[in-house]
Amino acid sequence: MKICIFGAASAAIDHKYVTAVEALAEQMAKRGHSLVFGAGGSGLMGAAARGTKRGGGYIRGFIPKFFRDEGLEAIYGSCDELTYTDSMAERKTAMEDTADAFIIVPGGIGTLEEFYEVITLKQLGRHHKAIAFYNIDGYYDTLEAFMHEMSAKKFMASACHSMYAVFTEADALFSYLEHYTPDYTPAQVLKHTEN
Ligand code: AMP
Repeated sequence: MKICIFGAASAAIDHKYVTAVEALAEQMAKRGHSLVFGAGGSGLMGAAARGTKRGGGYIRGFIPKFFRDEGLEAIYGSCDELTYTDSMAERKTAMEDTADAFIIVPGGIGTLEEFYEVITLKQLGRHHKAIAFYNIDGYYDTLEAFMHEMSAKKFMASACHSMYAVFTEADALFSYLEHYTPDYTPAQVLKHTEN
């Protein structure tokens, strides 16, 4: 499978996240999957790429031209394929279309924007791909709680919880992605907040 990993660009995060994501991506590659990502060289994007390389996996990066032209931040230098896009929006669409499944590792606003876009598109029936969080050291506990608050207060249908899953173990996460069968719950149900 082509698996897209969304994750932090920050290089200032605790090293425990870096080692966990390197190990996750190495295991991903050893299970025969390739990486699709935002081509950043730092933080957890860099960790995902290094881990994939270590596991012998193939890497496709997508990055807007302005990162290169404005020397904005380090681009990962060893992608097997690197595509330059005109905008962040075009890059996000390219990653979403290319990938068969998504893993969200710890990240900041960019990562959350990517998660909320893929889950919104899934809710609206634009794709039926698996979405999994890798919840390292409880990083996403508060986001999980907030998702439940959304449905408890009827801002989101409770059926939407089935659109994503949260894992603390890499094995269980990959097993979920590899055996995922889309349930094709209609957008009318996923948008219906009376349940
Ligand atoms: P953040 O979580 O705010 O660090 O943003 C990371 C996510 O946004 C990544 O998955 C990328 O797709 C995108 N992104 C943000 N900053 C960068 C960067 N410096 N290099 C490449 N992609 C980035």
